[in-house]
Amino acid sequence: MKFFNSEGPLSRQTVVMSALELYSPTDLNDALRFIEHKDGKVAVIASGTDLIPRMRKRQISPSVLLDISAFTEDLRYIRQAGGTLRLGALTTVTDLLESPTFDGELSAIREAATLFGAPQVRNVATVGGNVCSAASSEDLIPVFMALDASLKLVSAKGERTVPLRDFIVGKRETILKTSEILAEVSFRLPEGHSWTAYEKLGRRNMLIIAMVNEALCLTLEDDLRTIRSARIALNRVSGKIPSLAVRTSEFLKGKGVSDETVAQAQKVLASELSLTSDFRGSGAYRAEVAQVYLKRLIERCSRQIGGPS
Ligand SMILES: Cc1cc2nc3c(=O)[nH]c(=O)nc-3n(C[C@H](O)[C@H](O)[C@H](O)COP(=O)(O)OP(=O)(O)OC[C@H]3O[C@@H](n4cnc5c(N)ncnc54)[C@H](O)[C@@H]3O)c2cc1C
Repeated sequence: MKFFNSEGPLSRQTVVMSALELYSPTDLNDALRFIEHKDGKVAVIASGTDLIPRMRKRQISPSVLLDISAFTEDLRYIRQAGGTLRLGALTTVTDLLESPTFDGELSAIREAATLFGAPQVRNVATVGGNVCSAASSEDLIPVFMALDASLKLVSAKGERTVPLRDFIVGKRETILKTSEILAEVSFRLPEGHSWTAYEKLGRRNMLIIAMVNEALCLTLEDDLRTIRSARIALNRVSGKIPSLAVRTSEFLKGKGVSDETVAQAQKVLASELSLTSDFRGSGAYRAEVAQVYLKRLIERCSRQIGGPS
């Protein structure tokens, strides 16, 4: 689509539409065969809540849209078996909100879903679309990272599983090949004395675009004091992409939950972040918030597990 400003007296704007092909197969295998031989001009569309606004802003200009929204039988599910939780890529944010699976130690998912957009968006926005959009403000990505999630990527040639932490390689950049579709997000259920929590700050109370969002999966030893593991994920650990705060996690391992531990971990986190400023907030402010959130997340998780808070 192109815009021309006419030189005419009314100075009208003329919109020239370029052809946009929409392919809506009813079978996943058809879809995979279709993208097998297409180039990068094909964009997968699930619900379009991220893709369509980006097309309208001309940030991307695909010539073909591959609509996968009909594959709900194959790709919309929340399944738990053998200690693993599996979410089909077409699972919606409302599905997450309504599932009792996220009442307990996985409540970070419920919290992220609650703070997500507005009901109209939540009803259609998909888990797969959130992960593949690879935007730094997405709500589900840090939560899935804290849970050490893996992604099942399918193509006409087969499938591969990659850790989410390796999937996003730059701002809006992933390792997804043009011939692949994300089919599933999965993770091992946290074992033992574990809990997850999520915090998000934006500049308004509804339709919040995250300025800082941070997730924690905390596991305590049997003494309910000592930290066995603390996986922290947030934006801007290395550049403008969501990632794990590895050094802070390492620091916390084996330490007792206490004000002193938290204060030291906050310093490690601040030193680990690679912060930049933008129109939503300064790097310094983000660093402050990230540290406050770390304290809050550790306290909330520890309290839920039954440890010190
Ligand atoms: C008003 C509004 C409010 C929003 N609020 C929030 C919010 O609070 N939090 C938040 O995180 N996001 C928010 N978003 C962004 C968006 O809703 C989410 O990212 C959503 O999860 C995207 O899902 P979708 O199904 O609409 O993806 P789409 O828009 O269809 O796709 C998004 C991207 O992923 C790719 N894609 C989608 N599915 C697959 C797949 N299975 N395999 C391969 N590639 C795929 C597409 O090609 C595209 O690049 C908001 C958007 C709007 C319009």
